[in-house]
Amino acid sequence: MKISVIGTGYVGLVTGVCLASKGHQVICIDKQAEIVNKINSKISPIYEPGLEELLSNVIEKGNLVAATDLKTAVMHTDISIISVGTPFGDGKIDLRYIESAAQEIGNVLKEKNSYHVICVKSTVIPKTTDTLVKNILEGTSGKKAGEFGLAMNPEFLREGKAVEDFMHPDRIVIGAYDEESFETMRKVYEGFFDAPIIKVNLRTAEMIKYTANALLATLISYSNEVSVICEKVGNIDVKEVLEGVTLDKRFNPRVNNQLINPGMVSYLRAGCGFGGSCFPKDVQALSAFSQEMGYSPPMIQATLEINYAQPYRLIERLQEILGTLENKKITVLGLSFKPETDDIRESPSLAIIKGLLAKNAKVIAVDPIAIDNTNKKFPQNDSLYYSVDYKNALKDAEAAILVTPWQDYIKISPQEFKELMKEPILVDGRRVFDKSAFEAAGVRYIGVGLTKNL
Ligand code: NAD
Repeated sequence: MKISVIGTGYVGLVTGVCLASKGHQVICIDKQAEIVNKINSKISPIYEPGLEELLSNVIEKGNLVAATDLKTAVMHTDISIISVGTPFGDGKIDLRYIESAAQEIGNVLKEKNSYHVICVKSTVIPKTTDTLVKNILEGTSGKKAGEFGLAMNPEFLREGKAVEDFMHPDRIVIGAYDEESFETMRKVYEGFFDAPIIKVNLRTAEMIKYTANALLATLISYSNEVSVICEKVGNIDVKEVLEGVTLDKRFNPRVNNQLINPGMVSYLRAGCGFGGSCFPKDVQALSAFSQEMGYSPPMIQATLEINYAQPYRLIERLQEILGTLENKKITVLGLSFKPETDDIRESPSLAIIKGLLAKNAKVIAVDPIAIDNTNKKFPQNDSLYYSVDYKNALKDAEAAILVTPWQDYIKISPQEFKELMKEPILVDGRRVFDKSAFEAAGVRYIGVGLTKNL
């Protein structure tokens, strides 16, 4: 099929490249010429494992091309997949990019004679596609929905595993305005993806995405709430508590006496809070939307409150030990919101850097690939220094906080911390290190959800 993908960020590029690798003819459209030029030069503008190789492959085969000209793309394709950003701003979801993409597509539809399906892939609050997008398309094209198709196909990929997730989806949700829209979208995935297709209406598809993200975020915040209780009691390790909970066969079934260890269990872990481009903004958007509908959702709001506080709790615990953080050299290990991505959006590292700088600490932050993005937000200065070399970052530091569990960092031995640092104190924001090994090596270990007997 001929498909245009409007908005070529994390989701759009992965969608375009993966669909092209399955034989579709894809035109990736983005407003930013720099992104378009990179894609056409076979350079991925974002870091995702496996993406650049696949991109190069599909360009060489002639299955994908990038452009800034939306009109030509819509004219020459059967489907437009909208994957522009939907940030959270001014207390609610900001739909301006969706609106302008719909307007631009509608203007082209006015001149186009053949049937075209517009599919929203961006995460949008319920009623966006069947009201806002539909009205804009009808208004600009002068056609009625039905003359063009309308679908909502949420994306569930995880950054860092985006290609793998797109290629092996658990389910494909297709919200459709009518049968023809659904059938067209089904063909996009037909025969390529071995996953159940869930056929729903447009707003149900929108709600599935929010419910999934809010549930996963809530599991994280729940674990973090339990971690605070454990810390207050003392001599309880939240890690043992949650392991004791999740070995229940309702969470962790056994097949042939082997634990399945479902992915969901990995969200029941205490740490420095959730970040990224999705959970924080989506949970906030759902909360704001629900309030707009006249219901203040207590559980979703608590999920957010716990998450705001969590990174600062790590700093408080460090301050309890060091007394003051003023002029103390603190290493922040990891900037991206999780390993294998350069995405720092809402990463707990940003709150931690902000919190440390507010206490007049000297911060040295290390990350293999996310420094450029962080430097744009918090430019390097006298109190904030970036390095790609963890040894350089740890040298003479008075404490280190592990934020992103990059393999290279979780492999740092207790001896290395001890030798490099001035005052070997490690705050384990992900609970990945072995406390006893660190203490045996003379490193003071502070773990989320773990305090000595009180
Ligand atoms: P992004 O900010 O990385 O990319 C959006 C791109 O759209 C940008 O490159 C921008 O230049 C482009 N754009 C904006 N308006 C345009 C227009 N009118 N025409 C052409 N290009 C335009 O965003 P993202 O992270 O890829 O997220 C996109 C959507 O997918 C969001 O709604 C997000 O919530 C959702 N989503 C993201 C993820 C994720 O892991 N990032 C996962 C699932 C769903």
